[in-house]
Amino acid sequence: MPEYKTKEQKKKFYKSGDWQTIRQEVLERDNYECQECKRQGRVYTDNHDPDKHKRLDVDHIKEIYTHPELALDIDNLEVLCVKCHNRKHDRFRFRKKQNKWDDEQW
Ligand SMILES: [Zn+2]
Ligand SMILES: [Zn+2]
Repeated sequence: MPEYKTKEQKKKFYKSGDWQTIRQEVLERDNYECQECKRQGRVYTDNHDPDKHKRLDVDHIKEIYTHPELALDIDNLEVLCVKCHNRKHDRFRFRKKQNKWDDEQW
């Protein structure tokens, strides 16, 4: 099974034809809408923006780092806007940082 642990491995994956194909399928399945915004009851409308597709990412719900077998599983993929996508990964980093700072809490 392929691994996606290093930057090079990930880069290779995201450049692969398989990824490009499934990415397009997910965008169409999700109607080019951010699924997180949808869950929050917000409609992410960007209909007038010709660059809207550039603002949408296809995210791995379970990271390929920990779940390489789900890298091309369409059920593990969803469309996120850049904002939600950043928030998802920032939140994770933030939590890690907080754990570190816990030591210094009184
Ligand atoms: Zn969103
Ligand atoms: Zn992601």
